[in-house]
Amino acid sequence: VSARPDLGPPPRLGYAASRLDRAAGLRGDEAALKQFSEHPRAGVYAIGGEFVVLKSATGECDPQFTPAEARALGVVRESVFLGLMEQAPRFGFGLDAQAVEALKSRNDLKISDLRSIAVQGMVAAEHLPPLAEAKALLGWHARHRFCPNCGAKTELVQAGWRRDCPACKAEHFPRTDPVVIMLAIAGERCVLGRSYRFVPTMWSCLAGFAEPGESIEEAVRREVLEEVGIACGRVRYFASQPWPFPSSIMIGCHAQALSDTVVVDREELEDARWFERDELAAMLKRQHPQGLTAPPPIAIAHHIIRNFVEAGCDVFR
Ligand SMILES: [Zn+2]
Repeated sequence: VSARPDLGPPPRLGYAASRLDRAAGLRGDEAALKQFSEHPRAGVYAIGGEFVVLKSATGECDPQFTPAEARALGVVRESVFLGLMEQAPRFGFGLDAQAVEALKSRNDLKISDLRSIAVQGMVAAEHLPPLAEAKALLGWHARHRFCPNCGAKTELVQAGWRRDCPACKAEHFPRTDPVVIMLAIAGERCVLGRSYRFVPTMWSCLAGFAEPGESIEEAVRREVLEEVGIACGRVRYFASQPWPFPSSIMIGCHAQALSDTVVVDREELEDARWFERDELAAMLKRQHPQGLTAPPPIAIAHHIIRNFVEAGCDVFR
C-alpha cells in the first residue's frame, strides 16, 4: 500500500462556497428590490452569452460595475437579484452576446469566458460563485422566453427566479441539471478517460447526466458501465459543484469497480484505462514522466482524484 503522498494544502474548488446570502424571501418584495437597485454599494455582474465583462487591470480584474456603469455597456435584456454580500446587493445583468463581443475593442475592459476566468484566476475567488449563479440564471432566461406548455411569451418575475406565462398561467422555475462525475476504483487503481475535446495530455473522471427516474447511485453505475464496460458496486458521495456551462450541478462520487476489463465507448471517449495511485499523484503534481495531466483544481474532478490519491480505498469508509 502506497504511503499517503504529500500534495500540499487542498486547493479551492471553483464556483463553490458562495458567501452570498441569497435572501430568497425578498425576491417578491418590490420595495426592498427598489431600494437595492439604488443602493450605493450595489454591485452588478455583466454577462452576455458565454462572456463576462470585467474591468481590465494588471493582476486581478474587477468584475463588479455600478448599475449605471453596467447600463452604459449595452442594452440590459434581463436583470436578476443574486443576493446580499455583507448587506450590499448584487445583481446579474444579461446583455446581448453581440453587444458584449463589440466591447472587446475597449482597453479599459476585458471580455472573457467564465472557465478561463476561473482557471487563470482573473478575479478574486469570492466572485466566482456569484458569477456562476448569474451566468446560469441569465442563461436560463435567454433560453426560456416562451412557455414550454403553450408557446406564449413568458415574463420575468420574482427578481429573476421565476418566469410566468400570462396565457396559461404556468409558473416556470430556473433549472439545474444533475451530472454525476465519478472515479471507479479497485484497490490501488482507478479508471480515467479522455474526451475527444480534451487537450492531448489530459485524463479525467467519467461523467454524464443523471436521467429522469434514476438515483445518483444508479446514474453512476450506468454511466461507468456504458462508457468503459466496468460494473460498479458501492457508490459513495464525495462533494458537489455548481457548473454554469450552461447550468449543471456536478455530483462527485467514488464507485467500487467490480470488474476489470475496460471496453471504451468510442462515441463518448477517445480512450480510457486503469491508472495506479502513484501515477495519479505524479499527474496532480504535474510531474508525470510522459507529461500526462489531471484537470485543474477549479474542477471537482481534480478533487475526486486527489481524495483517492490521499486516502486510497478509505474513500469508501
Ligand atoms: Zn403558457
